Amino acid sequence: MSGDIPRSRDIFARAQEIIPGGVNSPVRACRQVGCEPLFMARGEGGRVYDADGNEYLDLVGSWGPLILGHAHLEILEAIGRAMASGTTFGAPTEIEVEFAEAIRAAMPSMERVRAVSSGTEATMTALRLARGFTRRDKILKIDGAYHGHSDSLLVAAGSGAATLGIPGSAGVTAGAARDTLVVPHNDLAATEAVLATGEIAAVIVEAIPGNMGCVPPLPDYPEKLRALTAAHGTLLIYDEVITGFRVAYGGAQALHGITPDLTCVGKIAGGGLPAAAFGGRADIMELLAPLGPVYQAGTLSGNPLAMAAGLKTLEILRRPGTYERLDRLGQIVAEGWLAEARARGIPACVNRVGSMFTLFFQEGPVTDYASAKRSDLQRFGAFFRGMRARGVSLPPSQFEAAFTSLALSDDDVGQICEAARETLREI
Ligand SMILES: *Cc1c(COP(=O)(O)O)cnc(C)c1O
Repeated sequence: MSGDIPRSRDIFARAQEIIPGGVNSPVRACRQVGCEPLFMARGEGGRVYDADGNEYLDLVGSWGPLILGHAHLEILEAIGRAMASGTTFGAPTEIEVEFAEAIRAAMPSMERVRAVSSGTEATMTALRLARGFTRRDKILKIDGAYHGHSDSLLVAAGSGAATLGIPGSAGVTAGAARDTLVVPHNDLAATEAVLATGEIAAVIVEAIPGNMGCVPPLPDYPEKLRALTAAHGTLLIYDEVITGFRVAYGGAQALHGITPDLTCVGKIAGGGLPAAAFGGRADIMELLAPLGPVYQAGTLSGNPLAMAAGLKTLEILRRPGTYERLDRLGQIVAEGWLAEARARGIPACVNRVGSMFTLFFQEGPVTDYASAKRSDLQRFGAFFRGMRARGVSLPPSQFEAAFTSLALSDDDVGQICEAARETLREI
């Protein structure tokens, strides 16, 4: 530490002079919770360390990818081995084939797989493919669901936009907005009414929404949505960028027993490096260039370092007991927080699927974006700040899911619950 001004604040001041808002992704600015961002210096296992040397137990996990924790030795070794042979070729490599095979083995609905570098690219291309296949222009998305920042998906797009109070985004054309229809999460009647027009190329859903906070589908929703889309010749796209390899090795589609037409994965699939993928029915995927007329490309698509990190992450996740442990850690934290809030008479409810959860500051139930928005955001901000002051790093928005990682010990989750007890007593 040097001088009175913490170093993280110095860096933030510099950042604001050159990077808009000082950040390269808006929610990182921590505005909803009334804080400045902490600039991170390093991570190790379940902990991150800011530029001032403060230590935090991490429930962000880089927004999902780091299910194994930070700087996992086996991941670093896998990246190192790949790196020693060159970082990128612009020509295919065997590890891309292994990666695609591993994705398909986890999610058999992905009969063909293509790797890209971000979740945004995966969902954007899945939509283009759906339009090319069905020869329809319109798509249907869910109010409050986030699928990356491509134009047609930035309509009613949840977390980042919601956090900043921006309904969609400036700069999206009226045409793109007109072709994107929106219905509430869990609302089958509204969905059916839109599908009945026969004009919808695809319905894209967050398989288990995480970007309005964690809001699981009601029990019969996935199955009925599958039947409705099939009946109307509309493709069903499961965006599993968060849920893939998170809620189960086979993603939410394994939990729901659903076969989507197309699926997008990212985050965990890249093992902390920039990789994502989309895939699905062979007859649809084979419309992609060079086999068919739907174009998609990427200089760094299938990057060997990212493939190595993703493949090793998947290998580790296949070891016995990982999902049982993730579930137990999530349960201890989420139920611990809820019990503390209730004990203090603070209105609260928790939604959780395994290691993905949100504590909403309201009685609930939270079943869609409209109900999520009834949460007490002031109180969430106070909770966030109190937890940060006690060495726990949370996602800086009520409309995000927190994640436990395999790097957290039983002691760590005990500490996280203790921090919540003290924080909730204070607010
Ligand atoms: C994060 C996310 C995306 C976008 O992925 P990026 O890699 O940030 O472009 C898409 N869909 C969902 C559900 C996400 O959570």
